[in-house]
Amino acid sequence: MEPSRKTNIRSSTIHVEFSTLWTCWHWSCHWLQVLLLISRTTMRLLVVEDEPDLLAGLTVALRREGYSVDTAAEGEEGLYKAVHTEYDAIILDIMLPVMDGWEILRRLRQKRTTPVLMLTARDRSADRVRGLDAGADDYLTKPFDTPELLARLRSLIRRSLHHPQSDLSIGEVSIQLTARTVTRLGKPVTLTAREYVVLEFLALHRGELVTRTALYDHLFDENESTLSNILDVHIFNLRKKLGPNFILTRRGHGYIIE
Ligand code: CA
Repeated sequence: MEPSRKTNIRSSTIHVEFSTLWTCWHWSCHWLQVLLLISRTTMRLLVVEDEPDLLAGLTVALRREGYSVDTAAEGEEGLYKAVHTEYDAIILDIMLPVMDGWEILRRLRQKRTTPVLMLTARDRSADRVRGLDAGADDYLTKPFDTPELLARLRSLIRRSLHHPQSDLSIGEVSIQLTARTVTRLGKPVTLTAREYVVLEFLALHRGELVTRTALYDHLFDENESTLSNILDVHIFNLRKKLGPNFILTRRGHGYIIE
């Protein structure tokens, strides 16, 4: 074989290998993005806190738990978001610039019953009473342990949905809310994080029609762009795993678990 032909073959082999590598890398990135999207799920929270380190730390801890998290570093922005978005819970600091936590809570309660966990550096029982009287659902004094905050948050959200128990049984399906596991006829069902969240949200609102908009609002935070058919994919997969009639579609309205 002529030397120049050999070189051509070698360079085209290298080219093919490079393009294969490139394709693999591209697809790995794609799937990594998909996996990240799937894992970043669950209920949507608002954190109103003006201490940057605490706000950042809380946001990371909550996202790691799978919550979608919106943030506000001052009171007015906090109130605006709290009133205009349907959150599953709000973590609200008391001492805030522009508008304090008391005023936010007072104005919020005129419009919404979103569960509120008040956060404060003060450890005075007078503040605790004032907070609870003003419509706060729970109260945590700084400094606090993150696991305690997370436990209180879970219990707050369950209470607000009138499901204080940690297990839900619906027909053949049982959902362990604390462990975030699901069984059907006693056998474990493997769900992706996002499938679990869709199921949990519908199950906690059993008997109520849940609109697609409400589901999207709870699954994605303000920083995420969403794929329009992703919900259909999750519902399709859930039906495959839990039975075709477990989640019912109300055409043009949304979904319901009866
Ligand atoms: Ca503060």
